[in-house]
Amino acid sequence: MKFDIAKCGMCGKAFIGVAGLRNVCENCRDEEQALYKKLRKFIRDNPGQKLTIEDAVSLLNVDERKIHHLVDSGLVQLVKSKKFLELFDETYGNPSRSKEDFR
Ligand SMILES: [Zn+2]
Repeated sequence: MKFDIAKCGMCGKAFIGVAGLRNVCENCRDEEQALYKKLRKFIRDNPGQKLTIEDAVSLLNVDERKIHHLVDSGLVQLVKSKKFLELFDETYGNPSRSKEDFR
């Protein structure tokens, strides 16, 4: 494993991480999980609703960067001309992040 300076996608702080694997610092891991779970719950509870990044920002009352971070991490994806947020189909798995972290 190669350790490298990574930039936290949640708070923007530099930290030592494994190159190409984690892009969130220790301090933000709980927040990242909590944020993802809230977003996932909302998307699952409102299947017909088209949720934009702006909607998610006002809904969860967080910095837009954090929503982009969840997209960049592969936890949620943008569909329909990169406008609406959607959960990755769990049967396809996730190429970059393990779902084990978010159970
Ligand atoms: Zn952080």
